[in-house]
Amino acid sequence: MNEVPVTTPFSQKKPYLIAGPCSAESEEQLFEVANGLKNEGVHLIRAGVWKPRTRPGAFEGLGSLSLDWITSVRKAIGMPFAIEVAQPQHVDLALKAGIDVLWLGARTTVNPFLVQEIAESLQGTKVPVMVKNPVNPEVALWIGAVERVLKAGITELAAVHRGFSVFEPGRYRNAPLWQVAIEFRQRMPQIPLFADPSHMAGKRSMVPELAQRALDLDYDGLMIEVHPKPEAALSDAAQQLSLPAFAEMMSQLVVRQADIDNAEYHFRLQELREQIDRIDRELLHLLQQRMQVVEQIGDYKRENNVAVFQKERWAEILRSRPEWASLNSLSPSWVTALYTLIHEESIRKQTEIVNLSKSGLD
Ligand code: PEP
Ligand code: MN
Repeated sequence: MNEVPVTTPFSQKKPYLIAGPCSAESEEQLFEVANGLKNEGVHLIRAGVWKPRTRPGAFEGLGSLSLDWITSVRKAIGMPFAIEVAQPQHVDLALKAGIDVLWLGARTTVNPFLVQEIAESLQGTKVPVMVKNPVNPEVALWIGAVERVLKAGITELAAVHRGFSVFEPGRYRNAPLWQVAIEFRQRMPQIPLFADPSHMAGKRSMVPELAQRALDLDYDGLMIEVHPKPEAALSDAAQQLSLPAFAEMMSQLVVRQADIDNAEYHFRLQELREQIDRIDRELLHLLQQRMQVVEQIGDYKRENNVAVFQKERWAEILRSRPEWASLNSLSPSWVTALYTLIHEESIRKQTEIVNLSKSGLD
């Protein structure tokens, strides 16, 4: 599966920029936003026509009516458009209307039957497709949806990381959980990966920092919600950027290169990596020595019939190590997390030792 050649225009421009309103609301709105974005280096305009909403009663998009607006704005401005499809009928109507790119939303990607039906309706077309991550952080489900679309013969394909639903209210509307997308990229390296910081953030003030984060992680593109009058938007009003805010963000974003063709740079990098390798060997050797002492303590506790876990000792470690971390310019919370792992392993080892004596194996 990983060998399917992808010749998407998505991978020819980096970062590939998709922007536009959450929902198509009127022809004027689409014209204003597409016209504004055309001069901002945007490659593709997004606009939702059918909106899968969490609760009934919310604005669900205007369907075919808004497809007509897109058709005329697309012609007038000469920009390609992308819309979300959530049913095979949407695919048919979108293709009839000449929509350039389709995407599967997070609430569709979670449902393999639906993805399969949509994939079958794509068969025989060559329309580029984007697949958003499922609402839950399951890499296999995301990969499965991409594979279904690939199997339908679609070769112009990209994945969109829009974050994941979590129960605990947190900083983000949808927790980014970057490592899930990194895992996706490792398993499907030939699929361009875009970020949708708007749906991660849930509020416009956080969109630029998340967009920058994605570029720093070498994402291939960005999908950003932009509305001519964000406060008055019929869906996702809090997270859409105005046209000036989008322009401001674009002027500030720093695009870093994945790599450079410079011998001196690579030579120096290699030197530094060798230092890291040497230090890691020493670190692991020290950890081994530490573990040997832990085992001696385990033996000693066993001989004296003393419990493995000593809460005063653990409290003392939790107090002192972050302090020592600060003295060494290291993050105390990171060092606490590190010692939690080290302590877990020490307890596991000592429990093993104590139980050996119980079963009389020593
Ligand atoms: C959207 O793009 O407007 C949308 C509904 O996104 P998601 O599927 O990521 O929730
Ligand atoms: Mn939206």
